[in-house]
Amino acid sequence: MDTSKENIDKPLDFIRQIVTEDQKSGKHTTPITRFPPEPNGFLHIGHAKSICLNFGIAAEFDGRCNMRFDDTNPTKEEAEYVEAIKEDVQWLGFDWGEHLYFSSDYFETLYDYAVELINKGLAYVCCLNAEEMRKYRGTLTEPGKESPYRSRSVEENLELFAAMKDGKFEEGSHVLRAKIDMSSPNLNMRDPIIYRIMKATHHRTGDAWCIYPMYDYTHCLSDAQEDITHSLCTLEFEDHRPLYEWFIQTLETPSQPRQIEFARLNLNYTVMSKRKLMQLVQENHVEGWDDPRMLTISGLRRRGYTPASIRDFCGEIGVGKRESWIDMTVLENSIRNDLNVSAPRVLGVLDPLKVVITNYPEDQVEDIEAKNHPQNPDMGTRTLPFSREIYIERFDFMENPPKKFFRLGIGREVRLRYAYFITCQSVVKDETTGEIIEVHCTYDPETYGGNAPDGRKVKGTIHWVSAQHALPCNIRLYDRLFAVENPDADKEVDFKEHLNPDSLTTLKTCMVEPSLKDLEPGSCVQFERQGYFCVDSKDSKADALVFNRTVGLRDSWAKKKKK
Ligand code: ATP
Ligand code: MG
Repeated sequence: MDTSKENIDKPLDFIRQIVTEDQKSGKHTTPITRFPPEPNGFLHIGHAKSICLNFGIAAEFDGRCNMRFDDTNPTKEEAEYVEAIKEDVQWLGFDWGEHLYFSSDYFETLYDYAVELINKGLAYVCCLNAEEMRKYRGTLTEPGKESPYRSRSVEENLELFAAMKDGKFEEGSHVLRAKIDMSSPNLNMRDPIIYRIMKATHHRTGDAWCIYPMYDYTHCLSDAQEDITHSLCTLEFEDHRPLYEWFIQTLETPSQPRQIEFARLNLNYTVMSKRKLMQLVQENHVEGWDDPRMLTISGLRRRGYTPASIRDFCGEIGVGKRESWIDMTVLENSIRNDLNVSAPRVLGVLDPLKVVITNYPEDQVEDIEAKNHPQNPDMGTRTLPFSREIYIERFDFMENPPKKFFRLGIGREVRLRYAYFITCQSVVKDETTGEIIEVHCTYDPETYGGNAPDGRKVKGTIHWVSAQHALPCNIRLYDRLFAVENPDADKEVDFKEHLNPDSLTTLKTCMVEPSLKDLEPGSCVQFERQGYFCVDSKDSKADALVFNRTVGLRDSWAKKKKK
């Protein structure tokens, strides 16, 4: 896939400018980036920004992007997440080739580096407990205090660190710390922990280790092992950069990557941290990580988003240094624009009302030709069966309509899409409830194709399906998962209080045209006048179709917000 074309007209962002300059100066002819997810959950739309940036730069600058799982916390990480993350990145259209790595591949090397630090007098085993450690650390305005264990000899440290590794100590009793500067104004430099004891089984190394390296220590050294040239991360790591540099400069590493920070994606009407998404899954607020309301990559896929629409979105929002919020409408427009071009148009009735065309021959069935995309003849045509009994949308009929209602009402004439004009003559009501259960109409055989030879006009065109041919199906109308712009805004209120109670409505009596029978799971269509829908990849069966609404034809939230 050629991602380089997608954003060709945009000026280069600040990171691409740096990469360009490094290529020009000969500093790095082949930029090497990496995407480093922690396998503790599924990827979300924020990760897509990082994926498109890292893999995008590799593609545009003839470089390479490594896929690296940052798996240093055995208590939270699982192989299931590794597989899901790989699938998502590939689905987005990116390929790491043979460059698949795990931080756990470097456990041995990282251990050796720690021994090197001890030998240089730059790391020590500390026995302060967590509470004491916090007190000694100081604050932003007060310097920290040196640990009483800081002056241990190299020999003693080597012995204790080996004993930590050999499982001789309890969790929390000993840590290895870098010896840097307890009075540094940057708290990250106040003798950060680099190893802790964790008696947990790791998804790849099993029980081989009971000490695990910390993120700040692991990340930069893993980058250096892989000859990463530009290590791109989000802004909250800016204060960690001096530590990143300290490790790669202090130790004899194969390369000296440069860390560059960019603003993370913030999107309204959602939460974005894996920890919060995990809560939604575990507390059954959603059906799973791939629930179509979740802004996970797998949720968006099941919702009907295409890889191209997500890549376009990431190109559209750009990469900068300042925190900002992106409106959900931008994401919704990206899929709407994509499907507007690619989705075949079909007819489907979500809330059916039966219409009997009383002057149409009882056993007659006509094959009516319909365009798959009115603006794109290359997408061809299909046939729609037409017969005496059809379904129309309940909202397209009113018994006593106001003047401006240009759809069907008693005595009113409308056009059936691709077929005939019909005029409503009477209605049949349920005797007990009074609900309209059938509408009786006559049709004008001269109006086939939608025009009357006598030149008379009708204002409304409505969609329909032939009752005896239509396929019954379930349609799920998804809406935003949260009802407010920023569910995280108030720290006193749990974000789950803001879940949108109407985020899912399941319609069980829908009727769609018969050509949809063999639609592949995951494929998207436009139900004319209704929106874009995709065949659910999990629950849809050939004889029991299930559609998910991907997005409506227009932005309905903009209107709501104005009110
Ligand atoms: P979360 O809090 O959702 O778990 P994370 O940053 O802890 O996010 P990682 O698996 O460590 O998740 O992230 C992998 C990469 O994706 C990192 O380089 C991280 O900076 C990037 N990333 C995560 N969230 C965003 C976001 N909202 N916007 C841009 N990049 C992101
Ligand atoms: Mg994380």
